[in-house]
Formats: sequence, structure tokens, C-alpha cells
Amino acid sequence: MKEPIQQLIKLQEIDSRILAKRLFIEKVPARICEQDEPLKLSRQNLEKMQQKSETLQKKKREREKSLEDIQEKIKKMKGRTTDIKTNKEYQAHLREIESSEKEIGKIEEEILVIMEDLDRTVKQQKVEEVTVRQEIEKLEVFRKELDREAALHEKELTALKKERTGIVSSIDPDIYATYMRLLRSGGGVALSPAKNEVCSGCDMNIPPQLFVEVRKNEELIQCPQCHRILFCRED
Ligand SMILES: [Zn+2]
Repeated sequence: MKEPIQQLIKLQEIDSRILAKRLFIEKVPARICEQDEPLKLSRQNLEKMQQKSETLQKKKREREKSLEDIQEKIKKMKGRTTDIKTNKEYQAHLREIESSEKEIGKIEEEILVIMEDLDRTVKQQKVEEVTVRQEIEKLEVFRKELDREAALHEKELTALKKERTGIVSSIDPDIYATYMRLLRSGGGVALSPAKNEVCSGCDMNIPPQLFVEVRKNEELIQCPQCHRILFCRED
């Protein structure tokens, strides 16, 4: 295998590793954001529970206030007996008290229902609080691990860039320029191994005559379709 091809293969290998590491580092925020979904969901659930519990408490206070008002009203009615003169008036008075007492029973039942609902909601709220805490912990572990990995990649990137500079300095500038152009147009892949007369970069068949040349690994031959530089791996 001739020198330029060998250098380009080495360069491509380094560039592929650099690209993968950059991609990893770039994707860290998005991956954390993705992982954040369960936490968001449980926070929303918790908020719903909190709102429900506030609404129920407010409703309970309102019903309790109504209860007090009616009890006060009954107390006043009971103290008004001296004003009653006829039996008819007395009967009407009793009916009024009775109806208010019935209303008290109704409100007391309503309060009971509200309290049961509130009890259930508070329990759910506590479960949701635990879930939120667990999700925060999980996310923190995930984030730390990812940060650790990203830092490792960052360190390796520095070493790879140094190694790259060394290789680039030994490559002919024109060849390097071609390589860089192909790297950009080829989505990070400028070189393509050819096997069984097929370019592995675009899967196109390489004409037999051309493949014979490619196999020699002597000259820089580009794929007729994807234009990547072809080479054959030596066994
Ligand atoms: Zn190709």
C-alpha cells in the first residue's frame, strides 16, 4: 500500500473518531432533556394533586362556614320562642328548625365525602412526591454519568487532534484539500473501502477495470458515484 493512501486511511480513522466524540458531546443536553420526561410528568401529576387538594380544602371550608351559619340561625330561632303566640305559629317555627337541621345533616354528609376525597388525594400526593424525588435522583445519576463520559471524550479529543495535526503535516496539501472536500460532502466519510467490486460507501458496482486499479492501492481513485476515495483492505 502506497504512502498517501495509508496516511489518508489513518486520517479518516482519526476523523471518524473525532466526529463520533463531538457528536456524543453535542448530544449531551438533548439526552438529558429526553431523560427529563418522566420527571416532568411526575411533577405535572404532583401539581394536579396539589391543586385538587387545595380545591377540596377550600370547598370543605365553605361547607363548614355554611354549617356554622345554619347552626347560628337555629340557635337564634330557638331563642325566639317568646315571640310565638299561636299554635300555628309554633308549628311553623318547629318546621323551620326541622328543615334547617335537615340541611345541617346534608352538609355534614357533604363534608364527609369531601374529607374522604381529600384523604385519597393527599395519599396520592405523597406517592407522587416520592416519585418526583426518585426521578430527580435518577436524573442526577444519569447526568453525572453522562458528564463523566463527555469529559473523557473531551480529553481524548485533545489527544486525537494532536495526532491529526501530525498526520496532516505529512500529507500533500492538494491531496489533503481533496480529502477535506470529500469529508464535508460525504457526511464525515471521505474514504470508502471497496470489496468484491462494490463501493461500501454507496453500494455502487465498480467497473472491473477500475477495481483492478483500486486493488493496487497506489493511486487515489474516486468512486464514480459518491466520489469517495476508494481503497482495498489488505488481508
Ligand atoms: Zn461510492
